[in-house]
Amino acid sequence: MISIIAFAFMSSSPGTTSENGPGSRVNRDHVTSGWIEQVYTPFDTLRTDLSDYIWPTNASTVITSSFADYRRTHLHEGIDISTNNLKGYPVYASRDGYVSRVFISRRGYGKMLTVRHPDGFVTMYAHLQRFMGPIDEYVKMTQKRTKRYSLETDLDPSMFPVSKGDVIAYTGNTGIGAAHLHFEVRDSSFNPINPLLLPHVASTLNDEVPPEIQMVAFTPLNQSSKVLGRNKVWSVDTKKEDFASYTLSQPVKLSGSIGISVRATDRADVLKYKTGCYRFEVSIDGQLLFSSAKNYILESEAHPVAAYYDKSLLRTTRGKFEKLYVESGNRLPFYNRLPEGSGTIETSEFEPGEHVLKIATWDLSGNESTLTTILVMGSSSTH
Ligand SMILES: [Zn+2]
Repeated sequence: MISIIAFAFMSSSPGTTSENGPGSRVNRDHVTSGWIEQVYTPFDTLRTDLSDYIWPTNASTVITSSFADYRRTHLHEGIDISTNNLKGYPVYASRDGYVSRVFISRRGYGKMLTVRHPDGFVTMYAHLQRFMGPIDEYVKMTQKRTKRYSLETDLDPSMFPVSKGDVIAYTGNTGIGAAHLHFEVRDSSFNPINPLLLPHVASTLNDEVPPEIQMVAFTPLNQSSKVLGRNKVWSVDTKKEDFASYTLSQPVKLSGSIGISVRATDRADVLKYKTGCYRFEVSIDGQLLFSSAKNYILESEAHPVAAYYDKSLLRTTRGKFEKLYVESGNRLPFYNRLPEGSGTIETSEFEPGEHVLKIATWDLSGNESTLTTILVMGSSSTH
């Protein structure tokens, strides 16, 4: 478990990715400057004691939504922990620190509080029913004074110091959504970090089920590109071969510039909750074309949902397809420093004929599923 997390952290540094060996198709020229450095440096320099954070409630060990999951206007910045549709479970401070902010709104996060830890990292707990005694009293006083329900107050470190495991609040259903606990971890610049990178948080899940790869879509990226002879996105159900391997029922003929996207989900056990996968790799004939990992999001960058999820497929109600290629302007820090354009299949770069496509995906417990199928590369001028 811990080594997987260490790998996840290391994989955002250049030169440490074991998967990008010689023979990789990944182009790493010109990756050392510009926005890529701005986007990756905060995570590379991230220093916190990962093993110090604990699971923040006794409500359940089930997550109903994962980091970077689809939301209509943004990527999910934390994890949602099931409270069995009930309210009133204790919420624990994940680490030592102090309550640095209380926030109350009728919408969004509802009642929320944040705890700042000695190294500047922050944990956030949202949709709370109420805060623990003294904080609740302070909040009620403030509400009375301002004659308003909503509030957003930064608190002095001396007011409500907390130790790891202290009850700081109770779970609820305030703000948007059914009863659950929304939990976030942020670095000292307030960048959201995937909470499942924390070993005690990840191991609490006890996930032994590999991800499910349900559908694959092939998208022609310009007018002259074709999938199965047509200039149109083609999405198809996968065929399950065994526990963790999938294929497609037919070879896929491609020509021109093609982007692949997948609809894949993960779940920890027989429970119905399906969350997003953590990591993807795409290779053709054993050569790596693309890799991604949802380690963190940069607060200072606008990350349009459409950069990551295919909006045109969403509109068809075929579901949430994650793009396995980096379009221009996409500055999500998920791509291990791969430049724009990575993941795009340019059929002119391949010998005409059959090639083996492999898509692999992992959850944060290291369970892997793969899809292997045949691509038939043509050139965009042939019909
Ligand atoms: Zn949430």
